[in-house]
Amino acid sequence: MKIKFLFVFALAFLSFRAFGRQPIRVMIDPGHGGEDHGAQYQGIEEKDVALAVSQELFKLLGADKNFVPLLTRNKDEFIPLTARPEKAISAKADIFVSIHANSSPAMEARGTEFYFENQVASNEESELLANRENSSKIKSPTGPDENSDLENIISDLHHHEHMVMSEKLCQVLLETFRKEIKIKTRAIRQAPFHVLSAPMPSTLIELGFISNPNEAHWLAQSDVQHKLALAIYSGLRRFKEKLDKIHKKTVD
Ligand SMILES: [Zn+2]
Repeated sequence: MKIKFLFVFALAFLSFRAFGRQPIRVMIDPGHGGEDHGAQYQGIEEKDVALAVSQELFKLLGADKNFVPLLTRNKDEFIPLTARPEKAISAKADIFVSIHANSSPAMEARGTEFYFENQVASNEESELLANRENSSKIKSPTGPDENSDLENIISDLHHHEHMVMSEKLCQVLLETFRKEIKIKTRAIRQAPFHVLSAPMPSTLIELGFISNPNEAHWLAQSDVQHKLALAIYSGLRRFKEKLDKIHKKTVD
């Protein structure tokens, strides 16, 4: 157990080193697109809200020399779920941010939620959401597990580190939203989102509930979309500052 902790610490150290002071590459992933509309209410569609906020975030990050922004899609097109983390990996992204809007049979449900990937959902609601967001996944064939024990342990450790960093990213974003936006921030939750499987700090943000008429109209406004993008941008800045501090302490 002690050795396992040492491994985790070493891996966390390596990922902090990866940050340092160089610009960090953020893969922004606007959820859904094309024939996959996502949540909808009276012509307001999740895919459009997600793209608008993502494009605003892209502009904000692009104007800051600390960041290199990237997008999984920059127009209304369908991208399979599995291709999204693959794009982040091939573009050597340091952070993955998937942007969505929620829906619930309870019309009064409202607020922003931040998710990170864990194969065990934190509650039934998170599991249902993961099932819904995972539904456009094109399944890839999986063969028998031929990994050695050591490979399995290392892969477990990488996964643990990925969860710790992703949870930290969610915490910083949630704190920033609480400070900067007068929207109810609901919770940080964990759920088995396939889109968050890339090996870098990754989060899925459900900006608000399209199923709530007030929130749907609010989310469709361009000044609100700008405000939401600004809050994500501030959160990413704070996350980078925190990692830079740790990097300075461990490297200097
Ligand atoms: Zn979605």
